Amino acid sequence: MTSTQSRPPTGGDVSYQEARQVAEASREKDWARPSFGKELFLGRFRLDLIDPWPTPDPERAAKGEEFLAKLDAYVRSEVDGQQIERDARIPDEVFQGLARLGAFGMKIDEKYGGLGLTNRDYCRGLMLAGSVNPSIGALLSAHQSIGVPQPLKIFGTDEQKQKYLPRLAGGEVSAFLLTEPDVGSDPARLGTIAEPVEGGYKLNGVKLWATNGTVATLLVVMARVPKTEGRRGGITAFVVEGDSEGITVERRNAFLGLRGLENSVTRFHDVFVPADQMIGGEGRGLKIALTTLNTGRLSLPASCVGAAKWSLNVAREWSAARVQWGRPVGQHEAVATKLAFMAATTYGMETMLDLCCMLADDEQNDIRIEAALIKLFASEMAWLIADELVQIRGGRGYESADSLAARGERSAPVEQILRDLRINRIFEGSTEIMHLLIAREAVDAHLSVAGDIIDPDVDLAGKARAGAKASAFYARWLPKLAVGRGQSPASYGEFGPLAGHLRYAERASRKLARSTFYGMSRWQGKMERKEAFLGRVVDIGAELFAISAVCVRARAEKDARPEGLELADLFCRQSRLRIERLFDALWSNTDTVDGKAAKRILDGRYAWLEEGIVPAPGDEPWVAPWTPGPSTERDVRRRIPPA
Ligand SMILES: Cc1cc2nc3c(=O)[nH]c(=O)nc-3n(C[C@H](O)[C@H](O)[C@H](O)COP(=O)(O)OP(=O)(O)OC[C@H]3O[C@@H](n4cnc5c(N)ncnc54)[C@H](O)[C@@H]3O)c2cc1C
Repeated sequence: MTSTQSRPPTGGDVSYQEARQVAEASREKDWARPSFGKELFLGRFRLDLIDPWPTPDPERAAKGEEFLAKLDAYVRSEVDGQQIERDARIPDEVFQGLARLGAFGMKIDEKYGGLGLTNRDYCRGLMLAGSVNPSIGALLSAHQSIGVPQPLKIFGTDEQKQKYLPRLAGGEVSAFLLTEPDVGSDPARLGTIAEPVEGGYKLNGVKLWATNGTVATLLVVMARVPKTEGRRGGITAFVVEGDSEGITVERRNAFLGLRGLENSVTRFHDVFVPADQMIGGEGRGLKIALTTLNTGRLSLPASCVGAAKWSLNVAREWSAARVQWGRPVGQHEAVATKLAFMAATTYGMETMLDLCCMLADDEQNDIRIEAALIKLFASEMAWLIADELVQIRGGRGYESADSLAARGERSAPVEQILRDLRINRIFEGSTEIMHLLIAREAVDAHLSVAGDIIDPDVDLAGKARAGAKASAFYARWLPKLAVGRGQSPASYGEFGPLAGHLRYAERASRKLARSTFYGMSRWQGKMERKEAFLGRVVDIGAELFAISAVCVRARAEKDARPEGLELADLFCRQSRLRIERLFDALWSNTDTVDGKAAKRILDGRYAWLEEGIVPAPGDEPWVAPWTPGPSTERDVRRRIPPA
């Protein structure tokens, strides 16, 4: 088979149904451990799954503190965040310095030369390093959360772990290559082929936007093994040596922010990969990617929490110092409300992240929904926080750090944080895709009992059987949604001033489940296309998780940090207003007319509205086609000398 022949159908060839099937097949379906998030969407408010607030193992915590202290000293004294921004490059010495500290092995077990830190300390490390320049956070997180270490940790063989993990812990950089020019949110279109050959596979394809791709010496590559007789085939994960013959790094991409990011276009032309470098078996690639992300997803919100803390710090100092109209701007109500939003939301995000990390560390709960909720919530909220910071800083918020410094002012790179943060709403699952992914879990109970009733492919007998099963489930489940602890004025009394918020959360979780059920009954199989409705359901779930987490944390810390109760109360008040607006919008919205309008917009009915401007130049295709074959480009790989 030549590489041209082996290219799978792309472009318009993959239907919605096929895309959905691929997503469904890669879903983890088993729930071996309890999940607060899953129960929440079913209207069962299981606070006992997250209360009491977990306590980290003291020995591991001490080890984490020791590392974080060293990292703190290093990044403060040796790393110039503004220089990275100016040069759009993290210097070799920073790669080497981080490697010497063990930062590339934070999450790797000690027996493979890593630091074996907890998820929480790993996230704190990312937050700290990323606060100097977010590109460093992205480097370390892409390497450890989606790059080679994490999939090997979960799915690798002992030989693979022994072979690769010590190299990675020592400072070699890894990258994760799934995206292609024609493959973004829809992996069903994957076009990179792994053709079985004697002793292994031959890889052909082009991968786009691989973070660390220009510097990585080890890659996780997702490629499709063709399905043939007796061979399951399907999307498969491989560990590939970055220096293998046939790999060309054709571009280093540049973005709105994260200027220091080493992000590539990488071409594979007849790249031989030995069979023992496959991870987890043929056809398991997407499942591996998704399972890796269960905890891998925690690193991105860590960067968001870091950005929120950084923004709060600038906002507080500036708003107290800047005087306009006779008082510090922070004392004008319009700015004061922004400060309150920033502080409360930073507390909420940090709490959700810490809780998720500690739940992941003690391995009692399944945290896949909570980790997805915090990714979604933190990336959206951090963006709002940074935007409010720019507003509070006025003209200085729009001015670059170098320009401020040239005028003798404090060079806080506020416009940079806004640019650097924006990508978090797009990568590792865009907000729209996170909504769908979480909604799928939220409605899973309904689909598993009633799925066949609404599936057009199921015959009448099948529908009748499903109907009986569903009736039995709903007869037990629905009555439980009518009453609960949240209605009793004395419940959650142990939470003192926060008890009312938990009662609200309990009631709201039942209301959420009832709303989801109404949606199911109303739209049946079409529910999955009601993306705006499902998005709101998920957003309410995220807020309820946040309310629960802050109440549990504030109570646990009430002696050590009594002012946490104030922040928790503030967060809950703001969050409850957001929830009420979302509940209203479930049934009162313009979704249907918007959908119809979008069709007319796409048909060009209002194209005259775009007159009077000079449109973006060029008539190249929006997605450039790629052809398999040897590279005709110069290799722009950057080689980092070892530490
Ligand atoms: C700086 C940067 C770093 C990256 N790093 C990596 C990396 O290390 N490895 C890697 O493999 N990839 C990486 N990516 C790719 C990234 O994961 C993708 O950009 C992301 O998955 C979205 O895909 P896309 O850009 O093709 O958007 P598209 O899939 O084209 O989506 C366009 C828009 O449509 C929405 N959309 C798509 N499908 C649906 C749907 N079914 N329902 C509702 N809305 C939908 C999306 O949310 C988005 O708003 C990176 C990208 C960037 C920009």
